[in-house]
Amino acid sequence: MVETPENTTVVIVGAGVAGLTLGNFLLRSGIGCVVVEKHSRAYVEQRQRAGTIDSRGVRMFREWGLEDVTKDGDAASEITGGIWIDEVMYPMEFDEDDDNDSVFCPQQVLVRNLTDAFLLGGGDLRFEALDVTPQDLLGARALVRYRNTDGEAKAIGCDFVAGCDGFHGVSRASVPDDALTRYSHEYKYSWLSVLAEVSADPSGMAIHDRGLAGMIPRGANASRLYLQCPAGDTPEQWPDERIWGELRARFGIEVPTGRIVDKRIVPLRCVVFSPMSHGRLYLLGDAAHIVPPMSAKGIHLALYDAETFARAVVKKVREGDASLLDGYSDTCLRHIWNYQAFAAWITELMHNAGDATYEGEFRKEIARAELERQFTSPTASRLFGELSAGLL
Ligand SMILES: Cc1cc2nc3c(=O)[nH]c(=O)nc-3n(C[C@H](O)[C@H](O)[C@H](O)COP(=O)(O)OP(=O)(O)OC[C@H]3O[C@@H](n4cnc5c(N)ncnc54)[C@H](O)[C@@H]3O)c2cc1C
Repeated sequence: MVETPENTTVVIVGAGVAGLTLGNFLLRSGIGCVVVEKHSRAYVEQRQRAGTIDSRGVRMFREWGLEDVTKDGDAASEITGGIWIDEVMYPMEFDEDDDNDSVFCPQQVLVRNLTDAFLLGGGDLRFEALDVTPQDLLGARALVRYRNTDGEAKAIGCDFVAGCDGFHGVSRASVPDDALTRYSHEYKYSWLSVLAEVSADPSGMAIHDRGLAGMIPRGANASRLYLQCPAGDTPEQWPDERIWGELRARFGIEVPTGRIVDKRIVPLRCVVFSPMSHGRLYLLGDAAHIVPPMSAKGIHLALYDAETFARAVVKKVREGDASLLDGYSDTCLRHIWNYQAFAAWITELMHNAGDATYEGEFRKEIARAELERQFTSPTASRLFGELSAGLL
């Protein structure tokens, strides 16, 4: 039997932040696209991760007429809090006249809003697409195969495949090993990341001999708690009482307690794959790079890739000009390495400074000086404000 695949311009693999942002931009530009996502809509829309969109992202959505996708009725609207160093609190001061328009928006809210916008605009989004397989990436047209939940085999022919399927997805895995270089650094410590039903009070980060701690709001009665821990730790080693005890010890004050609803170990690592394209496949977001969570820049990078790729496809389709597509990988990598440098710096600063066995008090004094400098420079303070508010 001769197979007749469907056809479109771009098949987007993965309905996360990168994939849905790209899908919306292409839809608004009149470019055909199909999004295939392996999970159900319910699963994707409740997946908790980041908590803010930085000012670049807010401006970008506004420019594309999608400003409503960052709106979350339930989220706290103010960025407040401080940094505790050895139990002394340094309040974060933000210049109200500064162009600081980052917003609290839990990642699952952004994903839900982007899904609604895409479907409302007539977008083609297929959840529960199983065994997605990009093929013919070096051919005249690429093909993306998958199975639907009824077991039917599907095939979509396309000009470009956008691999937006995260760090463990199939897109990057479909590229031969020798065609990509992996640059990476693994830290010797991880984060215990906890979601709790409690208001974040205190709100901020603590640097302490026992390690970094964080308590960041995720809504009126929800917080993300973080505790630096050795890389090999498991959630089972962290019973609830130990978590509350460590928070109290590292902040040096009483903290409210509440029901813990999720507990996981997040490895801290920097990873970049280069180039970010192979034939007709282009990698976006976590499929191409990971920044340590301390930087809170994963969303920023996913959005940057999505916009860069969308503009490149629009130029190619409308004007027959492939220059932006040809430069996609270099353009994104330049941006990514800048943010990797920031992420590596802030990770080092915030973690190793608290470890007395690592250059002792010297590092702590450097951290204190750096953090105070952050709060007195409007630009740095804005960056740091976004960072502090965006963590996990
Ligand atoms: C616990 C945690 C906390 C984080 N906290 C922050 C933070 O505070 N600030 C910040 O900026 N960033 C944070 N990040 C990083 C941020 O969440 C990611 O950088 C961001 O989600 C990247 O978006 P993405 O679209 O590239 O990938 P994802 O959001 O991972 O989306 C990938 C999509 O592809 C789908 N998919 C995967 N495999 C397949 C397949 N085979 N076929 C089809 N679909 C597939 C997935 O189901 C998913 O929907 C955090 C990440 C984690 C894990």
